[in-house]
Amino acid sequence: MFKEYDVIVVGAGHAGCEAASAAASMGSSVLLVTMNMNTIAQMSCNPAMGGVAKGQIVREIDALGGHSGIVSDKSMIQFRMLNLSKGPAMWSPRTQNDRMRFSEEWRLTLEKNGRIDFWQEMVRGIIVDGGVARGIQTNLGLNILGKSVILTNGTFLNGKIHIGEKNFGGGRAAEGAAHGVTEQLVTLGFESGRMKTGTPPRVDGRSLDYSKMEEQQGDPNPSKFSFSAETKPLEKQVSCWITYTNDDVHQELKKGFDKSPMFQGRIKGIGPRYCPSVEDKINRFAERERHQIFVEPEGWNTVEIYVNGFSTSLPEDVQYRALTKIPGFENVKMFRPGYAIEYDYFPPTQLKTTLETQLVDNLYFAGQINGTTGYEEAACQGLMAGINAHNKVHQKDPFVLKRSEAYIGVLIDDLVNKGTQEPYRMFTSRAEYRILLRQDNADLRLTELGHKIGLATEERFQTMLSKKSELTRLIDQLKKIKLDPEAVNNGLLSLDTTAVREKVSVTQLLRRPQISIQDLKQINPTLNELLNGYSEDVLQQAEIHIKYESY
Ligand code: FAD
Repeated sequence: MFKEYDVIVVGAGHAGCEAASAAASMGSSVLLVTMNMNTIAQMSCNPAMGGVAKGQIVREIDALGGHSGIVSDKSMIQFRMLNLSKGPAMWSPRTQNDRMRFSEEWRLTLEKNGRIDFWQEMVRGIIVDGGVARGIQTNLGLNILGKSVILTNGTFLNGKIHIGEKNFGGGRAAEGAAHGVTEQLVTLGFESGRMKTGTPPRVDGRSLDYSKMEEQQGDPNPSKFSFSAETKPLEKQVSCWITYTNDDVHQELKKGFDKSPMFQGRIKGIGPRYCPSVEDKINRFAERERHQIFVEPEGWNTVEIYVNGFSTSLPEDVQYRALTKIPGFENVKMFRPGYAIEYDYFPPTQLKTTLETQLVDNLYFAGQINGTTGYEEAACQGLMAGINAHNKVHQKDPFVLKRSEAYIGVLIDDLVNKGTQEPYRMFTSRAEYRILLRQDNADLRLTELGHKIGLATEERFQTMLSKKSELTRLIDQLKKIKLDPEAVNNGLLSLDTTAVREKVSVTQLLRRPQISIQDLKQINPTLNELLNGYSEDVLQQAEIHIKYESY
């Protein structure tokens, strides 16, 4: 029934989808085995991609030829560039996504790839022969052969869901846990641990009163993740809303503390410090009178709302009563309760920098199984594991990114060399080269590398090359132009910046914090004419390049 595959990917979450897609796009025959084909690329938690440091990762995945950026663009309902008030190294793209469309777009992407076969079933173990992975064993007792195996089991390995005093096995709400894999890996000598995470309740948007909340619109000139022309920015966007908890909410939540699985010690796994539950927030920061709640729509055609900032594993009736005390939520109808989940992970110091395990050759781990948290962190590991599994099977060199080349390089280096004691998420502060590793230049940094290994398409490569040559031409032109005081002083004064007494170079002017490249157009008509010959993208790149050159 099955041939021997080059790469078998276990799990079709964010890591599994990128892994399967990358290996197949590079030429491998791939089998993607997952427990439920209706939940391919499910967003287990919030319907959003990117954000601070994570947006940079999505741009890097895209620049290398991965698909998370394209899928996010095709399913976005709102786009925002976060941190615009800070320097360009901190600018971080974020999309609010249509949860169902995100999943559908990923499935379509995978189905369009003729080298990927699918099989819906639970994998119980790995076939290992002489220290080398040779395939997988399924719940039905099938042995499927593969030259390499990538495990991307997410939160499913011996997953246990907690809501108040109730707990039951599950990999995610309404999905079963996966058993067998951890137990087998432990007998092979792997060390495993336990982590936990949580999610907020989902509610009926028709029951909310938005007049009591602040509107949060998307950017007036929205952008997108992908550097390719395959996607377009949104013309119409959906708003999110902001409201706050208050003392009444906190008092209601406190009534459930004696039934809290976290406070009563039933949850043993370590949770994400930077994504605490609401009960954790009011317990740890008792002096805070309120906490922000982002009211996020789940898509274009659904009334379901994600209550961001209200992650909880308190009993469902406590969750409900506390929600009704939030301004705008007085008549709330709850669709699904929040919950916490504990799951097995494998300390990532057991991996090589290719994400291949040190103990078993041709066996790779990617995503939450390595102790990370977040779709973006998972997706980029999947991409790198897919590339490396393909390369190894085809006797090609390993593909490893340096810390100075990409956030992806930072993430994998941190995991493999330092390990992690808590769910690992990316922050800009983890990257010592963050001024260079910006979202805007991910294509200039990485597309050539992605093209060289056979992943980024020729079209992407050519687009990047023409952007690069335009950029070089513009920077050269700007460096050569020197202007007399009378040609610039009126413009400078109108921008509230000091006049000059001697000839000045345009690059000198552009280094002033008050002056943007667009301002140069106002300062002098010759500059206006020159700059109008370039795209917005190239202008912005040139500006950042000149302002940051000294770093
Ligand atoms: P997943 O997306 O979990 O996908 C795993 C896939 O593997 C699934 O398709 C599953 O069916 C399949 N699978 C598992 N075992 C087997 C098997 N044995 N055989 C076949 N198929 C298998 N991230 C954040 O950044 N912030 C948060 O606040 C946050 N909260 C979360 C709350 C909850 C309740 C959950 C469940 C996750 C949360 N996450 C959060 C994490 C985020 O969802 C994950 O980091 C991300 O989805 C991990 O991607 P992944 O590809 O590693 O695994």
